[in-house]
Amino acid sequence: MPSDDHDAFLAFVPEHTTSGHRVLGLRVRGDGVEAETVADLPDGPSATVLADALNGVLRGQYTADRQINAVLDGTRDDVRTAVSRLLPSLRTVGDAQESLRLVAALPSPTERGPELFPTTNCPGLCETCGDCQDDCQNCEECADGGCETCLPVVITPRTAAALEQALAVLGDEVYDAAEDTEDRSSGKPSPLGAVPTCVAGQDAWFLRRYARAFDDLATDLHEGRWPAPACTAEEVALDLAIQDAERRHHDEPELVATWEARLPASRFDYDWFALQDYLFQDKDYEVLLHHPDALSDDEVEGWFGEFGNVPTRDPKRGFRR
Ligand SMILES: [Zn+2]
Ligand SMILES: [Zn+2]
Repeated sequence: MPSDDHDAFLAFVPEHTTSGHRVLGLRVRGDGVEAETVADLPDGPSATVLADALNGVLRGQYTADRQINAVLDGTRDDVRTAVSRLLPSLRTVGDAQESLRLVAALPSPTERGPELFPTTNCPGLCETCGDCQDDCQNCEECADGGCETCLPVVITPRTAAALEQALAVLGDEVYDAAEDTEDRSSGKPSPLGAVPTCVAGQDAWFLRRYARAFDDLATDLHEGRWPAPACTAEEVALDLAIQDAERRHHDEPELVATWEARLPASRFDYDWFALQDYLFQDKDYEVLLHHPDALSDDEVEGWFGEFGNVPTRDPKRGFRR
């Protein structure tokens, strides 16, 4: 949570009047919300796109910087300076998701979902690689890991879609388990394995919060955010979803075709190993996936203790079901 909420921007909106086009920032002042001019733009579309890109930064969108740079490319120096001055404080706002309520609810001219993730990190012309041949596939610099710019993409649009799908299905299985008292008392793991043996006998309150861990990660992906597990429950959920996505990608070509028809391909698609490698701070949670015995009450409660070094979830986010 930012230390001084009072200065935090809640959202950005474009304003189009006969006297010009500008981006207004909404921020908390005194007992209410005030709008202030962040930048004057030469035309309407630039103001709309810049406001959307700034909202992307607030939401922690992975490609927000790229979007901002694209908008600022070719704009006046004063606009560039004003925006660069704002950016550091906007990134802090995203540390507590309750401060994102407004911006998360605003309709956006950009589609939300897996398409917010990049297919490549290679700019085409790179200071280190030169002309980045063939998306750096034939690039000596990148073969030696020498370029910090053209790094492999961990989450591509198609990878994000596969993960989102797996998180939704597994999350539903956990909600089902929470509603099914008979199944719960059996202490058996669920059919798709969404509820590991060590927590299979837990009550509905535990299971509903655990189901929400899947939803929280799916929301991250939907918002174009890097899905950073905020607690142990989310680590377990994400690991199981990666495994499930890999299984489906292999076994259910028709399902995969549904998102491949609308999302661009990347040479980095479906790198499950990279997901396991990059999305977790550590792998301490892995013992829980195959732990044969029921956990103690304290251990179970510990599943929802937030780590604190990644953005925290909105405590009032509620439940999907
Ligand atoms: Zn490069
Ligand atoms: Zn390269």
